[in-house]
Amino acid sequence: MSDTKVYLLDGGTLVIDGFHAFWNRGPGGELRFPCYSVVIDHPDGRYMFDTGYDYDHVMRVLPFEKPLQEKEQTIPGQLAKIGMKTSDINYVINSHYHFDHCGGNKHLHVACTICHAKELEQSANCQPFEHLGYSDLTFSPEIMKQKNVQLPPDPALDMYTPKFQTLTGDQEIAKGMWLFETPGHTAGHYSLMVELKNRRPMLFTADACYSQKNMDMMCISSFHLDPVGSLNSMKRLKALAEQHDAELFYSHDLESFKKYQTGANYYS
Ligand SMILES: [Zn+2]
Repeated sequence: MSDTKVYLLDGGTLVIDGFHAFWNRGPGGELRFPCYSVVIDHPDGRYMFDTGYDYDHVMRVLPFEKPLQEKEQTIPGQLAKIGMKTSDINYVINSHYHFDHCGGNKHLHVACTICHAKELEQSANCQPFEHLGYSDLTFSPEIMKQKNVQLPPDPALDMYTPKFQTLTGDQEIAKGMWLFETPGHTAGHYSLMVELKNRRPMLFTADACYSQKNMDMMCISSFHLDPVGSLNSMKRLKALAEQHDAELFYSHDLESFKKYQTGANYYS
């Protein structure tokens, strides 16, 4: 734990409507928000929590989210900025399988993939209203095959044969690295807490809470499988932060993101 470093990798931005970000509250109108990944350089290995979105996928399937992503904001581009290669990542942890959290998995071809068992199941058998969320299935060539998904040729996929390790319940996956169950947004959603030597623990909400404003208003997003479960998970994150004196890091909060340390400027 003592030597753990945490890097935040900037993966570009997307747009959704304010009524989606703040369900039944709004205000409506375009809201541009960041997507980022987290690299945890831990004595037991190098972990990446979420992998952002794939630009080509968004342009093909949901261009109305107006992606802005430079070459250096792809997973290979961001890893290069911190002096790492895609093959340096030993484990990928996916909070959930929405397209903006797993689009870069295909680049991490030697990593073992960790996720909640229910999430993997749901991504292959989602509800009709979840289809756009689960539209990028490149993280699992097996599910793509089951669903007969045809894609343009992609060299990244040729090398990619992921092994999955599925979990249930809260888990300490390495010393000082905790996955907490926070379902509702999706069936098997995990949030991540990382304990560090020189600062308060970092608690990454992922999509169990998009932003500080969602937390302050106790307002969930309109993207959810179970709204009551989603609200309970947000309350759980608030309680966990108090219990562990942890700082909350939100998944899609432009104002907060501007204050986060990104790229080579790591937390330890
Ligand atoms: Zn999501």
